[in-house]
Amino acid sequence: MASDVLRLISGVGAKGPACFVLEAAGKRIMLDLGEGPPPGVLPEVAGLGPLDALVLSHGHKDHVGGLPLLQKLGNPPVYATDIVGRDLPQKIEVRPLPIGGTGNVLGIEVTTGRNGHAPGGIWLHFKVSGGFLYTGDWSTESILYAYDPPAKPASVALVDCSYGTYEKTLGECWGAIASYVDGGPLLLPSPANGRGPELALQILRSGRTDIFLDDATNEALRQLVDDTAALRADAHDDIAALIVSAKPVAEPCGIMIAASADGTSGATKQLLQQWERKTEPAIVFTGYRAPGTPADRLIKSGRAQFLRWNVHPRLSDVVALAKALKPKTIIPAFCDRSQLSGLAEALGPARVTMDGPVAL
Ligand SMILES: [Zn+2]
Repeated sequence: MASDVLRLISGVGAKGPACFVLEAAGKRIMLDLGEGPPPGVLPEVAGLGPLDALVLSHGHKDHVGGLPLLQKLGNPPVYATDIVGRDLPQKIEVRPLPIGGTGNVLGIEVTTGRNGHAPGGIWLHFKVSGGFLYTGDWSTESILYAYDPPAKPASVALVDCSYGTYEKTLGECWGAIASYVDGGPLLLPSPANGRGPELALQILRSGRTDIFLDDATNEALRQLVDDTAALRADAHDDIAALIVSAKPVAEPCGIMIAASADGTSGATKQLLQQWERKTEPAIVFTGYRAPGTPADRLIKSGRAQFLRWNVHPRLSDVVALAKALKPKTIIPAFCDRSQLSGLAEALGPARVTMDGPVAL
């Protein structure tokens, strides 16, 4: 019988769509199937042949945007949490995974926990060989999305290291953004199913009442109040208050939060067209901006600023995970290969590699 192996199709060695294949217990299971960044970039799946299942960690485009490729992969069954399955870009019947607890994929025991990153998002531990952990995107710091630390031993861990060796805290991020919040009108382009509701919560808690949200962010907040499973317990009441107090975005006024994060779509796309040549409002992007996007262009021209709001782990979070689980091999995902030596130094004695396939 062939030995268990992890294939790194896309997302390791450079920023790109998430796509991996776990071959274990006689099954071939794809982990995530994203599109971009940059927009339009899809994983190269030609030659992979039919798969037995696709498992989705969360609903962000760089993890699910490649779903149209499924027909090239034999249309395997798709596994996701109910929250992620409900909001997929195309209608797919999803086999449910728990948002925390134990389930199974094609007979393989899978343990999941909340990833602190997106509504319904999870990390996944597969009970194969010495144990395999896929974190998907994760964060320990979110003030909105609950995070459950993985606890089961894993000899191999595929870990979101989007920020490489970066170490600033979310509190430091807020310190920088707060100086803009305290100024005049401010637009914060943000994904509705991620940072948007979280930034709104932080701004509410800072005492501001003039918060303006686009429809997508408002709808995301309403769903969060219903899907309390994804939320930190202490966030519920403030989110409910925010839904009551927030007003729609119209003129440059107060603190405005609108999707999408990079201005390629949604309300932000229109707002940037209206306001790009005006001096107000201030515009601050807080997430990854791919080359060629409006975010990239406005930052380069000086019209907008970039100030990160952490939604991925800091180096110390990854080090703590490695200390807790003691994997023999760690594969850092979603960062550039130039981060490898710094990560390897910090994560020893584990073998740290960006080269696949990796034996389990
Ligand atoms: Zn994500």
